[in-house]
Amino acid sequence: MPTANKEDHSVSSSDSRRHHALSPMVSLARAVLIHGPIQRGELLRRLQLTPPTLTRLSKPLLDSGVIVEAGETFSGTVGRPAKPLDIPRNPRRFLGVKLTSETAFGVVSDQRARAFAWGDRALPSHDVSVVVDAIAELFAELNHDGTEAIAGVGVTVGGRVLNNRVVDSVRFLEWTSVDLGGALEERLGVPVTVENDLIALIEGEHWFGLGRNMRDFAVITIGAGVGYGLVWDDVVIRTEATGIELGGHLPLEPGGPRCFRGHYGCATAMLTVESIRNQAREVTGEELQYEQILEGARQGDPALKEIVDRAARALGRYIALAANLAMVHEVLLAGEGTGVLDVARDEVMRVLAEERDPDARPISLVVDETGFGIWAKGAAAVAIQTSFDRSIAGL
Ligand SMILES: [Zn+2]
Repeated sequence: MPTANKEDHSVSSSDSRRHHALSPMVSLARAVLIHGPIQRGELLRRLQLTPPTLTRLSKPLLDSGVIVEAGETFSGTVGRPAKPLDIPRNPRRFLGVKLTSETAFGVVSDQRARAFAWGDRALPSHDVSVVVDAIAELFAELNHDGTEAIAGVGVTVGGRVLNNRVVDSVRFLEWTSVDLGGALEERLGVPVTVENDLIALIEGEHWFGLGRNMRDFAVITIGAGVGYGLVWDDVVIRTEATGIELGGHLPLEPGGPRCFRGHYGCATAMLTVESIRNQAREVTGEELQYEQILEGARQGDPALKEIVDRAARALGRYIALAANLAMVHEVLLAGEGTGVLDVARDEVMRVLAEERDPDARPISLVVDETGFGIWAKGAAAVAIQTSFDRSIAGL
């Protein structure tokens, strides 16, 4: 890689929403996008503004049409009509694409990341041109039946991404320094935002998902790997280490099964879908799907129940560690491997209670049950964020 790119290792340095305190006007616009329709009184409380300041800040946003006054409702005790603020009803659509080693998964969403169309394309190889072709095909397929064209695209990968554009390194695609955003923008003709998949998932949860009313919380994702992230003071934390999966190999059970790196009982070995399936194969000799293993455990099959219970205890330990070390009490779980919680919730909660100081605030656990689809939704969310940032950048 050319040395001229060295300073790019400060992640997404061009991206103001992640590195500086938000201007009050941007905070206001964002609150209306996330929570609208929202009453002015509620905005005053959320943003700690005075009424004259709210009026001053909202004027350029209303004038430019970024926000609008929604239909009149009556509220409060004085019976005066109050018009809540909202974003304009427009049919703008966004495409989110999550890349795995074998497939590009796409979802089309509205401007609040509500998904309404899905598609996927196999990746016959990892050549950049093959991946770009697959995404362009998805774009064409999902674009053709709507009345409005797709206004922006988000693409996510399990690896390090620079400036929302260049894939710096992704092990599973064997890519280094690939300008995926540039190649796709040229091909598709709309803005493209490339992002680390874990960060995108957290951004999506924070703006449009179960984290939209939470300021400080940890996120644990379970699927092909185990991911860990943090939202602190309403900002998704990102550093140079984002995308290296530092939370994936935390030791959770001495003497547990072994991960591909050789750790015994690390988070990957205890919790990933593949590891659970491997453990089940070893004891049953059968090739069981993750859901079949959970169902077997639910019905009391002793061998499968032991595997799931062990995963549940490890998960309880992970959640407690995350909350204790990050000093948060809210933890959000997402991904296709959170099913152990449905089957063995008592085990998770028992270990969680054991490993949390009784003087500490009890942990509030929130589980997103979207499953694998949450990854593509996160990709759509970062496309929406880019579009939103651009719409208010000149105000
Ligand atoms: Zn490991």
